[in-house]
This record gives sequence, structure tokens and C-alpha cells, in this order.
Amino acid sequence: LVRIEGLHKFYGHHHVLQGIDMTVKEGEVAVLIGPSGSGKSTLLRCINQLESISAGRIYVDDELVGYKEKDRRLHQLNVKDIARQRRNIGMVFQRFNLFGHKTALENVIEAPVHVKGRPKITAKRNALELLDRVGLAPRADYYPAQLSGGQQQRVAIARALAMEPELMLFDEPTSALDPELVGDVLTVMKDLAKSGMTMVVVTHEIGFAREVGDTLTFMDGGVVVESGDPRDVIANPQQERTINFLSKVL
Ligand code: ATP
Ligand code: MG
Repeated sequence: LVRIEGLHKFYGHHHVLQGIDMTVKEGEVAVLIGPSGSGKSTLLRCINQLESISAGRIYVDDELVGYKEKDRRLHQLNVKDIARQRRNIGMVFQRFNLFGHKTALENVIEAPVHVKGRPKITAKRNALELLDRVGLAPRADYYPAQLSGGQQQRVAIARALAMEPELMLFDEPTSALDPELVGDVLTVMKDLAKSGMTMVVVTHEIGFAREVGDTLTFMDGGVVVESGDPRDVIANPQQERTINFLSKVL
């Protein structure tokens, strides 16, 4: 479903992604780990077109992301096509970025109603199902400030799912949470994985990687150092840098 080929990203002179190759098959969960500054968030942001890419290609569903190819050169897509591509991808960030002046339910129906033009009544019914799925139906009318961090994060997941994405990106969704709230969010993510959602997850929850991940990719300094079956990579890392990193997070 996702194919990344020779992806480079510069911020000015800073070469943040230095030739990333990666594939994620439909229904797979790809877990990304790596030290701070290794380029994990940048990679997700490139997939979701929150950043432009400097070189290389990203395909989602066999469609080139953000560009069209003409005369063997890439030309930026128009705004409408970019919006269409981005609608297929849900993203959940480290900091819950809910609208503070809207209730959980209003947060979830926002995009289906305003972006997809769904009738409010259908969007509402769907949103309540989604909130139920993340265990928050009873809190549908609460405002973000009245919810715990873990609950807010689950609303954020429901909100992303409301757009019926074919791919979900998670950028350290549990790292800003109190330890006792992490489990509920991971459970929701595990259920989502079981339902067949294709997911790319940046996380330092090695247990999650081992249990749910189909692949585990270790990045450092803008390159993929090592990638493989999570159990193999965790139990038997091949590269010095991976061994070093895992010894710190395990
Ligand atoms: P962390 O684990 O801390 O979240 P990360 O692996 O997600 O780290 P990125 O956020 O992708 O790392 O950042 C990679 C590098 O790119 C860092 O050195 C960072 O300073 C730089 N960087 C990120 N965003 C920008 C930006 N908008 N402008 C300039 N440099 C940036
Ligand atoms: Mg990051």
C-alpha cells in the first residue's frame, strides 16, 4: 500500500532524510523506532504531505504522492489532488490536537461534515459508533479539557477514523501520556490493527512492536539502519547502532 523509494528531505542544508526505502503492505503494521532527531516524524510528515520531499518518491495505493510524472520529471499536484490524497490518510500526533471548543462528538464529525459533505445525522451516528469503538461513547458530549490525555488521544483516533482512511499514521501517540493511560490507547491501536488497518506507527513501546508489528524499522541519522520481523530485530539486532538503541529502551 505504501512504497517509499530513495526519499530525501532537506531543511535548508540539513539533510534529514538520506535515502529512505520502505514498503508497507496492505493490512500491515509497520513500527518505526529510532533516537530523537533521526527523522521519524519527518518521514511520516512526508507521507502525509505536511512536508514537501526533496528527492525520491512515495506511492500510496500505487499512486505517486504529491506529484505527477511528466516527461520523467515530477510536477507538484494541484491543491485539489493533494487534498484528495490526504483524505485517505489519518494521522494521530503525540500531542492531542483536538479542537478545544468542540465536544468529543463535534470533533469527530467535523471533517466528515465539512470536508466530505456528509449529512450531520449520518456523521453523528457514525461518530457515536467510533467513540464506542474507542470506549468513549459515554463521554461524547465532554470537551477535551474534561477528558484525560488518554481519552483525548482516543478521541483523536476516532476523529481520524471518521474520514475512513486507508492508512493511519501514528507519531508517538502515547509518549505524552501518564503511564497508566498508555494501555487504553495501545488497546485501541491493537484492535485497529486486528481489524486490518494499514498502519505506520512511530513508538518506543517495544511491547507493542513485538505483539502487533509486522515489521520493525530502526532509523538513525536519516537512514534505515535495520528492518525486519520485530521479534528478530528485538531479539537479535544485527547492527551496532540498533543494539545500542535497544539496550536503552528495553
Ligand atoms: P523525535 O524522536 O525527537 O520526535 P524524530 O526522529 O521524529 O525525533 P524529526 O522530528 O523528524 O526527528 O527531526 C529530524 C531532524 O530534522 C531534526 O534534526 C530536526 O531538528 C530537524 N527538523 C525537523 N523539522 C524541522 C523544520 N521544520 N525545520 C528545520 N529542521 C527541522
Ligand atoms: Mg518525532
